Amino acid sequence: MPPPDERIALVTGANRGIGLEVTRQLAARGWRVLLGTRSTAPAVPGAVEVLPLDVSDDDSVAAAGQAVLDRHGRLDVLVNNAAIHYDTWQRGVDADLTVVHEAMETNLFGAWRVTQAMLPALRRGRHRRIVNVSSEGGSLASMGGGTPAYSVSKAALNALTRVLAAELHPEGILVNAACPGWVATDMGGPGGRPVGEGAASVLWAVDLPDDGPTGGFFRDGHPVPW
Ligand code: NAP
Repeated sequence: MPPPDERIALVTGANRGIGLEVTRQLAARGWRVLLGTRSTAPAVPGAVEVLPLDVSDDDSVAAAGQAVLDRHGRLDVLVNNAAIHYDTWQRGVDADLTVVHEAMETNLFGAWRVTQAMLPALRRGRHRRIVNVSSEGGSLASMGGGTPAYSVSKAALNALTRVLAAELHPEGILVNAACPGWVATDMGGPGGRPVGEGAASVLWAVDLPDDGPTGGFFRDGHPVPW
């Protein structure tokens, strides 16, 4: 079991991109970080443990939830970061619904099933935070045509954020959606901002005080219209 004052976070989809950078930054602070991945992962300095985790697979998620309880007895922070299908090649009017299903399975249901599986450990944690890594692409306020699978899945993730925040508020668990901005990763492509800035936008929601906001949608610490 970890020392009682050690902070423990799980980051999903943490083998590359923003998830990897969030993992690096938390580990650099001295946190224990469970690097959730369905692939091989690069070595990260610090107290970083690879946790096999395919967020779209019920059995994988259930096994990860049990492993966290068995090994650590608790979890303080969950960052639901894994996502797929920024489908710039599609339009809603003739979208391939298989792609839409896949996006929902990972971007919405992935975050949902991981949250459910980690709640027993989170309920034993301290200063608990759930951060759903979302996107302004999921904002109904600014939504237009295009990227239908991605946009609809992120709008649904935002709705889930509201539901979980309300339900977990009595337990003191803060649940927020964080947009990292346009970031130069495999998903974002060239031209976006450095991955460190995207990760910082996510970490702002990790670092909220216990009386901080819950059920919000933020980028760089500022509210984003739903
Ligand atoms: P990325 O570079 O494409 O990385 C995505 C990560 O998710 C990878 O580690 C990938 O793992 C993982 N993943 C996908 N499906 C998974 C599954 N079923 N189980 C476990 N892991 C899975 O994307 P990114 O830019 O870092 O994006 C991170 C988050 O930021 C996402 O939620 C994204 O929607 C959001 N976001 C990004 C931008 C941007 O401009 N980049 C803008 C707004 C929001 P594999 O290597 O195994 O595929």
